[in-house]
Formats: sequence, C-alpha cells, structure tokens
Amino acid sequence: MTRKVTFPQLGNYNIPIEMVFEEGMDVEYLKPPKMTNKTLEIGSKYSPDSVCAPFKFMLGNYIEAIENGAEILVSVGGLCRLGYYGELHEQIIKDLGYDVTFVNFAQTKLSKPSSWYEKFKTLNPDMSLIKIGEVIPVFLKMIEYLDLTDNFMRKNAGFEVEEGSLDRLYNRYLAEMRGISSLREIKNFQKKYMKAFKEIPLNKPKNPLRVAMVGEYYTIMEPFSNHYIERWLAKRGIEVERWMNLTNTIIDRPEKEVRKHIKPYAKYDLGATSMYTIDRALHCAKAHYDGIIHVKSAGCMPEIDSMAALQNISKDYKIPILYISFDSQTSDVGLQTRLEAFYDMIMMRKKKII
Ligand code: SF4
Repeated sequence: MTRKVTFPQLGNYNIPIEMVFEEGMDVEYLKPPKMTNKTLEIGSKYSPDSVCAPFKFMLGNYIEAIENGAEILVSVGGLCRLGYYGELHEQIIKDLGYDVTFVNFAQTKLSKPSSWYEKFKTLNPDMSLIKIGEVIPVFLKMIEYLDLTDNFMRKNAGFEVEEGSLDRLYNRYLAEMRGISSLREIKNFQKKYMKAFKEIPLNKPKNPLRVAMVGEYYTIMEPFSNHYIERWLAKRGIEVERWMNLTNTIIDRPEKEVRKHIKPYAKYDLGATSMYTIDRALHCAKAHYDGIIHVKSAGCMPEIDSMAALQNISKDYKIPILYISFDSQTSDVGLQTRLEAFYDMIMMRKKKII
C-alpha cells in the first residue's frame, strides 16, 4: 500500500493529475479539498505577510489535505519566486509539527533525467517508467480537452436559453472524465461531449459584449482565487476570452512569437507570465474587444511591471482595462462594485460606438 499523495487545487486540472498519479505511478491520490475562505484563512495565518496569494492558497490547501490524510505533498517550480515556494511551504509545514514527505519538482533539472527519476521513486519506489510513459500522452490530451471545453464555456455560458443547462452538462463531463486512462477513450469521450455541448440551445446575439481576461497565472486559473469573475461576466451576457491555460503556456509555449508581437510595448521579458499578459491584451485590443480585465495577486512584481505596457495599449487602442489585485482581504462587495461600474461603462461605450 503506497502513501497518500496530494497536489494543491488548480482549477479542474486535478483530474489529469489524479490520473497520472493513480494510473502512471500507482500511488493513492488524495483529492485536494475545494478552495474555500477557510483555506485562505489557514494559509494566511501561517504565511509571511508579504508573500503573494498563490503561496497562501497552496499552503492552506496542503494543510487541509494533511488533515484529510495526505502523507506526501507534491510541489512544482515556477518562473518567478514560485520556484522557491516549495522549500518555504515544507519548512512551515514541518515547523507546525506535521510529519509528511515533500516531493519538490522545482529541485529537478530538465537536463538531468536522474533528478526526475529520484523524485518519482520517492513517490513510489516500485513505480514503472514504462507506465508513466504510457499515461503522459493521455495526460496531455486531457489538459488540451479541458482547455478547449473551458474555452467553449467561456464563450457561451452567458447565452444559454435554459439557465444552468451548460453547467449541468459540464459537471457531468468532469465527473465522467475521472476514470478515463486511455487515449482512445479520451478522444471518443471528448467527441461525444463536444457534440452534446453544441446541441444545448443558445440565444447569442451577433455582436455580444466581449471581454478578455489577462493576468497572473494562478489567480486567473483558480476560479476561487479570482472570486469567480468569469462566472460573474457570463451572468451579464458577456463572451469571455482567456488565453492563459496550461495548453498554451506549458505545452505550446509560443514564446518567440510573443516576444516579437510585444516588442513595441516591452523590449525585455518582465518575468513569469507577464509577456503573455501583454501579448493577449494587445491581441484583444487589435481584435476590438469591448474591455480587458487584468487580474493578479497583490505584490506580484512581474504583473505589476506589465501594467505599464497595458496602460500604453489601452491608450493606443482606446480600450478600457480594469485592474484587479487580489489578496486575503479582497471583499466580494468591493469587487462587485468595481465590476458593475466597468460593465456599465463598456455597455454604454458599445452603444455609442454602434
Ligand atoms: S506570478 Fe506573481 S503571484 Fe504568481 S507566484 Fe509569481 S510572484 Fe506570485
């Protein structure tokens, strides 16, 4: 019997992650508890004050998972200070007296396969590399399909004829995806569901309000950490575009093209995903979107730096940008007021332009 392994919640990506752990590594995966205010409360209580919100969310989620029986905690690196978070999380968790093992993939090197092998062996000493090799293509397909389906939801959730019909189907989709572990199954599954999604009656105007979400990696992808902004926008009948996902940033990584596109606004890489933020804002400004919402955690330096470029894009293309910074104190009421004002403004602006 292997020990229970967990990885902090990030949107719905814990479905492919669970598949890799269970089918590829033959370890028992403990689903991380859903993010709640309590997660953030626990994370904030034991985190240094100045650290960014993703650190606090992850710490809170680790502690909740330990309370639920997790024995091995997995951590990955990142392009910013996230790369050091694993060590700090481990130290805090050990200081709190929890007896758990930390497997930190930030300590591996792409050029040194043995460093990966060592980490995998800590998870399960009897693990087979052949099995991992078999599930990796399924893992990548699952991520790609989840992202495609999420894009469909963002574009259409605001226009369903029967309220909740898309969400109901989406929940069935997620539940059924759990349990798939072969390439053939996942391809058939996606085909079946995309057909079902497209059959749901919609009442979408020809020219709806279109808003692009750009910003910091974690805050944009974990809906609880951005207070479910995408859902709020969909409820107002807005088509939402969000490029930032794992397919685009980890699998495809169009870094060279992005560098070229954004040259007039940023000559140097500002770190983490800031280049992508600038690129998507520029793309959507050129495509005449009605507005852009920039989300980030308070204190996120790469995204703070990207704001200067965003302001220039906003000025050059006359596109409104709403900047929202999240921390443990962000209140729903304050956020709602800002979103309402932004919505009224882009709505009036569109009427004037048309
Ligand atoms: S990108 Fe920003 S918010 Fe995200 S982990 Fe890095 S510094 Fe923190």
